[in-house]
Amino acid sequence: MVNPSSPPGYRGRLAPSPTGYLHLGHARTFWIAQERARAAGGTLILRSEDLDAVRFRLDYEAAVIEDLSWMGLRWQEGPDVGGPHAPYRQSQRRAVYRRALERLHAAGHLFPCQRSRRDVLEAAGAPHEGGAEDEPVYPPEFRPAPGATLPPLGETIAVNWRFRVPAGERLAFTDSACGPQAAVAGRDFGDFLVWRKDDVPSYQLACAADDAAMGITEVVRGADLIRSTFRQLLLYRALGLPAPRFHHCALLLDAQGVRLAKRHDALSLRALREQGITPEHVRERFKLP
Ligand code: GLU
Repeated sequence: MVNPSSPPGYRGRLAPSPTGYLHLGHARTFWIAQERARAAGGTLILRSEDLDAVRFRLDYEAAVIEDLSWMGLRWQEGPDVGGPHAPYRQSQRRAVYRRALERLHAAGHLFPCQRSRRDVLEAAGAPHEGGAEDEPVYPPEFRPAPGATLPPLGETIAVNWRFRVPAGERLAFTDSACGPQAAVAGRDFGDFLVWRKDDVPSYQLACAADDAAMGITEVVRGADLIRSTFRQLLLYRALGLPAPRFHHCALLLDAQGVRLAKRHDALSLRALREQGITPEHVRERFKLP
């Protein structure tokens, strides 16, 4: 009989966005994710984060699967192999996100935001520490008064919905790679998007809802997402869901000290493979087990 108090088995995930070719940085993070799942005798899941319909191209998902397999990565559940939590493509999981959105709305955690991205950027001033790629801190003067009557969500969403963060609250977690982490809501990050006016869930909502629904016990990902982790911790709390543990891996930099991104085509796994580099070379270079 299963002991209800025993911790669930380790469940980890690889969550690539199929918006381009994977590079060495992904390979390194995903390898670490695989090793941690293996060491714990756990399960590894592949989830395709393909919500970004504008940039998403179907051929990149096939390329991601091919490149990860070439690298020697193996998963037990995923869009290509199925599993108990199918579907494993975010574009096919809207109902999960919509339910989460409705719960957040009913509990008063959200507000609709009519401001343009430009309004927010201008009022927020200089990009904060999270860098230009992170969402700017939402200007508090744009928030509706607490307790203001909320409009219904409606069938089709045509306005940005944001999560009202508990301004001034200090949030903390211990990362198994980076150590103790802390951030203050409203200062280090602000009211963040949960659903976009083009009727697409945000990364924060989809990721937290999926990690919970798929029973993920540890999230292994790049250190650029640490700030997102605080947002996701607020979502778990508001949704009454248990939060996973976190292991954020250091990012790889190129020779100029710039973080690797999909635009670094020369360091894509595909380009390396075409040059005759083997997965063993890649692992040796990064001292991966
Ligand atoms: N899909 C995200 C990305 O490729 C990663 C999300 C995550 O691991 O939480 O950047």
